[in-house]
Amino acid sequence: MNWISNYVRPRINSIFSRREVPENLWTKCPECGTMLFHRELTDNLNVCTNCDHHMAITPRERFKALFDGGAFAEVEVPAPVVDPLQFRDQKRYPDRMKAAQKGSGETEAMLVAQGEMGRTPVVAAAQDFSFMGGSMGMYVGNAIIAAAQRAVEAKAPLILFSAAGGARMQEGILSLMQMPRTTVAVEMLKEAGLPYIVVLTHPTTGGVTASYAMLGDVHIAEPNALICFAGPRVIEQTIREKLPEGFQRAEYLLDHGMLDRVTPRKDMREELITITRMLLGLSPAIKGDLPPPKPEQAEDGPQGTEEAPAEEPQDAVEPKTA
Ligand SMILES: [Zn+2]
Repeated sequence: MNWISNYVRPRINSIFSRREVPENLWTKCPECGTMLFHRELTDNLNVCTNCDHHMAITPRERFKALFDGGAFAEVEVPAPVVDPLQFRDQKRYPDRMKAAQKGSGETEAMLVAQGEMGRTPVVAAAQDFSFMGGSMGMYVGNAIIAAAQRAVEAKAPLILFSAAGGARMQEGILSLMQMPRTTVAVEMLKEAGLPYIVVLTHPTTGGVTASYAMLGDVHIAEPNALICFAGPRVIEQTIREKLPEGFQRAEYLLDHGMLDRVTPRKDMREELITITRMLLGLSPAIKGDLPPPKPEQAEDGPQGTEEAPAEEPQDAVEPKTA
């Protein structure tokens, strides 16, 4: 028996474990259970190739897919006071922050970028749900203000991708103050006559829905995104009634007049180009994947670049803050 358990079994186990595929190469679709190869999934912008389920995408990946040739410049966001309330639950707030920064590789829950989409200069901000639930704290407030200020300076539209569990409780009342602050930032754009477009992604909830995420000129949502102030579970518990099918999901909200469009992620770039150009009173853009803008070609304009050679967005250079 000893010989079998000490020698034969480890040998058999080692033969089988060698055949196992590393876990990170495959992702299981949470909706239909299909195993998706990571390359296939990232090429499809984290949308299931079998059932079209939209999984989370990081702001950086999203921007690479949206901007011409995947090139954009990050807009600097002023850093807020760290842990003003000395907050502590099971963990200290600074420790939670460090863990989130390590896990995501980003400084905070929002990324602001400037670049061109279909040769239209735009400023974009995207919230990162994987960073502490995309929660709106002072940094997110600062990011939206920085984005709005940059948009006004550049006379460019602002496109905001929301994804949040709500306000960041670790910052207490200071996080709630971001609701009026961001509302004022949106007002700056309106005063300057610049379009403000909100793309609501799964999930957009709480104080974010009660402020900047619902103040756009145009509201687009990704398919099946949960968009609400209080979630369906809370409402069900409060009213003690079963809620209708698809309640608070993008398609339901579109039917009930809360949204303007529900757009699949693969069509988002073309849709945003069309809408921003329409709102800015520009001529329709040239279709297709445009190469990154080159400063010396600025005078040439976009003439004759129809069916421009599609460049791999992954290979494109990412200029740091301009
Ligand atoms: Zn699926």
